[in-house]
Amino acid sequence: MPKPFKKNKPVRKRDWQPGDMDTLSREGRSKREGNAPRDLREPEDYFSDVDANAIVVSPYGVLAFVEVDGEELLCKVDDALVDGKSSVLAPGDAVCVEVNDDESVVTGVRPRRNKLSRPAIGKDREQVFAANIDTAVIVASVARPAFNPGLVDRYLVAAQAGGVEPVICLNKIDLVDSEPEGIEHYRELGLRVYATSCTSTLGLDELRAALSGKISVLTGNSGVGKSSLVNALDPDFDLDTQEISESTKKGRHTTTSSRLHTLHGGIRIIDTPGIRQLGLWGVSPAELNYFFPELSQYAPQCKFRDCTHTHEPKCAVREAVEAGEITKARYDSYVRIRVSLLEDAKP
Ligand code: GDP
Ligand code: ZN
Repeated sequence: MPKPFKKNKPVRKRDWQPGDMDTLSREGRSKREGNAPRDLREPEDYFSDVDANAIVVSPYGVLAFVEVDGEELLCKVDDALVDGKSSVLAPGDAVCVEVNDDESVVTGVRPRRNKLSRPAIGKDREQVFAANIDTAVIVASVARPAFNPGLVDRYLVAAQAGGVEPVICLNKIDLVDSEPEGIEHYRELGLRVYATSCTSTLGLDELRAALSGKISVLTGNSGVGKSSLVNALDPDFDLDTQEISESTKKGRHTTTSSRLHTLHGGIRIIDTPGIRQLGLWGVSPAELNYFFPELSQYAPQCKFRDCTHTHEPKCAVREAVEAGEITKARYDSYVRIRVSLLEDAKP
């Protein structure tokens, strides 16, 4: 039984497609970069219109594993693409590799179509963990750990800020009798939701079909089953998985960087290193509402142009929440993420 949207204003599917968010996220990014150290180089210093013959599998300090003609090769990365102790490369980057018998070298990298990133430790710069991605699969578990819509919303913002189309994978569906409350709302918002189980294999065929022929990135907090999904999608894989008790322990911090895996059936997946809480890069508090499509459609009717939708009188967004046209859960996510962005912006 579909709920909220009494006035029948579902957000259309194409609103989740990347594109129009691009300009916004760039604006937010430049705001963040305003606080960054001055010696940071501009993207144009690194990216250029080279002829790419390889794709980055996994950067490794000043070296990188790349795929050239179906073969994986460890290369040196040209100094021009190195910033400090590591290269600027991310899995999925399209690069030009000079293949030599002794030492092959990555000599150039093409501008990125899109990316997923977060603030690096220290927060003043961006850490890109996947580039040129077709789909961001936001993995959430229905139990162990419990379904957390607030986290899904945070990952949805991150995907849109990077210009990547998100889908939701509701994993560990074997642990419950029915989908958690609130998930239907994401379908109403036009998002595709795949319910899966790595243990019973339920839903894996649909997920395989959806990911076939694409480069996807699996995101989601530790313990939701990302590594298990890669292993379940392709039985030839045996990525390390974590026992629940381990993964929920505070301070679990894997130093492994993200990596592009090529699975059977033309599925390419970039897995992301252990994330406890995803920081958002390139999103300013003022533009946050653009990443909540159902909120932003009401914003133009607010009394104040710079309405934050938190306390102002005649706020059309809050009126829509009260009228049940925007769910309380999504609105609360907006407010919570806004607070965390304001916190992050403090010196
Ligand atoms: P990651 O941190 O997101 O990569 O999560 P892991 O793949 O390491 O999985 C965390 C734990 O959840 C492991 O103990 C898995 O065995 C378990 N797990 C993963 N997928 C499922 C599932 O579909 N059903 C059940 N019951 N357990 C799962
Ligand atoms: Zn408002």
